[in-house]
Amino acid sequence: MKAFSFTAEKGVPQIGIEYKQEFYNFSLAWEFYKKLKNKGQGPELNFLQVMVEVDFFHLDTFQEVVFALQKVRPMDDLKLKPPYNFLPPVGRPQKILCVGRNYRGHAEELGNAVPEEPIFFCKAPSAMIAHEERIYIPPDTGRVDFEGELALVVGKQGHRIKEKDALDYIAGFSLLNDVTARDTQKKDQKSGRPWFRSKSFDTFCPFGPFLLPKEAIHDFDLDLLVRLNGDVRQTASSSDMIFSFAEIISYISKYCTLVPGDVIATGTPPGVGELRSGDTVEVEVVEIGTLRNTVE
Ligand code: MG
Repeated sequence: MKAFSFTAEKGVPQIGIEYKQEFYNFSLAWEFYKKLKNKGQGPELNFLQVMVEVDFFHLDTFQEVVFALQKVRPMDDLKLKPPYNFLPPVGRPQKILCVGRNYRGHAEELGNAVPEEPIFFCKAPSAMIAHEERIYIPPDTGRVDFEGELALVVGKQGHRIKEKDALDYIAGFSLLNDVTARDTQKKDQKSGRPWFRSKSFDTFCPFGPFLLPKEAIHDFDLDLLVRLNGDVRQTASSSDMIFSFAEIISYISKYCTLVPGDVIATGTPPGVGELRSGDTVEVEVVEIGTLRNTVE
């Protein structure tokens, strides 16, 4: 089971789940479940981010609700039909943190040294767009690249998290495209300025569509694949990362307190390339799904 955010009728955000290759309205299922269990007092679960924040985003929450309902009623009226109007799974993270140069081949392809400790930077949450939304490249921006990445969403607050405990702080996994205005970034790097603006143009953060609960993954070795117009351009396993999920979480939390809903993009493998108008870029991990966006 994996979850997503979508807009229902009248533009109301809701939580959906994929279960046995069908999509269901989990927000509605939750309301039925609360009545069934006489738990009318439970939280409203219309936002995946809230579900993460109240620590309900766990595989067993989804399973408990679906299995309990299935016993007493058909689920057909909770089934969703396309179009699904996906939203980013977590809509308003306090921060989006990205790890730079976390794959040897990518550091080398841009002529950079392989880092000895993690490099991290911020991407503006306002850059975020959903699955199937368009990436817009403003005129006179120069080269803009795709960077397909595995992203994790933080599930609980932590500061100076020990590596051995770090995986407990993950709520789930998703996909993110760390779209980068490469010419702008190079110009800023040359003059000693930060990377922030080259990473934070509006629409430069496609994210989603699914958030896979951490408990649904048996090992953390996930294979990432990025296609540009159908051609495979990036492939890697998370085991190729220079710094592991645990090392990244522990390192970042030395400086910034991590809070539920924070997004951490874990770096891009080699094979980044330019995006042009009309292109379609897809980031895929079989267990998580496919994030697809076209370029305006
Ligand atoms: Mg990146």
